[in-house]
Amino acid sequence: MRKRTIRDVDTTGRRVFVRADFNVPLEQGRITDDHRIVASLPTITYLLDHQAAVILASHLDRPKGPDPALRMDPIASRLSELLKRPVRKLDDCVGPAVADAVAALRPGQVVLLENLRFHKEEEANDPAFAKQLASLADLYVNDAFGTAHRAHASTAGIAAYLPAVAGLLMERELQFLGKVLERPQRPLVVILGGAKVGDKIGVIRNLLRLAQTMLLGGGMCYTFLRAGGAEIGASLLELDRVDLARELTREAEQRGVRLLLPVDVVAAERIEAGAPARVVDARAIPAGWAGVDVGPRTVAAFSAPIASAGTVLWNGPMGVFEIPAFAEGTRAIARAVAESCAESVVGGGDTAAAIEEFGYADKVTHVSTGGGASLEFMEGRTLPGVAALEDA
Ligand code: ADP
Ligand code: MG
Repeated sequence: MRKRTIRDVDTTGRRVFVRADFNVPLEQGRITDDHRIVASLPTITYLLDHQAAVILASHLDRPKGPDPALRMDPIASRLSELLKRPVRKLDDCVGPAVADAVAALRPGQVVLLENLRFHKEEEANDPAFAKQLASLADLYVNDAFGTAHRAHASTAGIAAYLPAVAGLLMERELQFLGKVLERPQRPLVVILGGAKVGDKIGVIRNLLRLAQTMLLGGGMCYTFLRAGGAEIGASLLELDRVDLARELTREAEQRGVRLLLPVDVVAAERIEAGAPARVVDARAIPAGWAGVDVGPRTVAAFSAPIASAGTVLWNGPMGVFEIPAFAEGTRAIARAVAESCAESVVGGGDTAAAIEEFGYADKVTHVSTGGGASLEFMEGRTLPGVAALEDA
């Protein structure tokens, strides 16, 4: 699992290709959230301080071919402000003009290539395209944990042609997520929620092998409640997964994992702001009403193991937190995780957004920047973008 990083190699005078994750949300060409850009700064600054010439590259959104609305220019401007030095944006990511610009680059200078996905060869992991990217540099650095679950030319293929090491953000992600799976401080308490059982089967299965306690909330818990014979009203139900939920419950028992389900929930007449809602017994949700959040007795029951955990791993909001009236359970669990002395790791795009929104992001050990990538990691899968890097 340990990978070489930029700190293990001499970067002086080298041209370094950095695959970053600058896939930020844009509205009318303006960046509405620059977290991902900020998260890449330690690696870029380190390389510039160590006399490297830096070639930055990322995808932005999902263009089907070149798309003027998805050029990297706003990212170059924001980077330039943050780094307090010019960041020249090139108009392509391969080709003679790019090669010339890169050849002229001096140590301490930075360029940003155009959106990698303007070329369909990127996602196809085309070897010729990967080789063209590689020809720009003499060292490859992957700092894009958020894209590491994809085998694309810039995340995997390129590593066949250059020495390949991890950036500092990638290193941090592997360190904290890896520790949870490999040598967690026990007891390991896993909190799972979010939308669907279907999305999380792999995560549940893998973590049942490792956890001492598993707390289930969010939309997925109703399929488990139903499997145990509860009346769940109009709550989210995956009828085709009820048997699976029963099987996973049994597996938890066999493994001696304490599996806790909500004892009370906030049920609403409709899943929308302003709808009538009240706290009800989790096993007797009124017909036509949907469970939209965990209730206060559940928060108390979940908070106790969180407080005494050695490690907490959290993926998936406890309720429909986008609607303020249904956000209290997620907020309270976020607070419990923040207040616990446990090493705490939070993964999943929506869960990370929730903990940011509630102001607890800097009170946990690590919030993963990789949504899908962190889920695949928790499933115990090997991420192609990680596998491509040299072992330490
Ligand atoms: P993550 O991105 O952190 O992995 P998911 O994408 O699995 O999380 O789940 C987040 C979504 O789950 C949120 O949009 C939230 O509204 C939804 N959700 C949570 N609880 C419920 C519920 N009880 N009913 C319906 N949807 C829910
Ligand atoms: Mg999500």
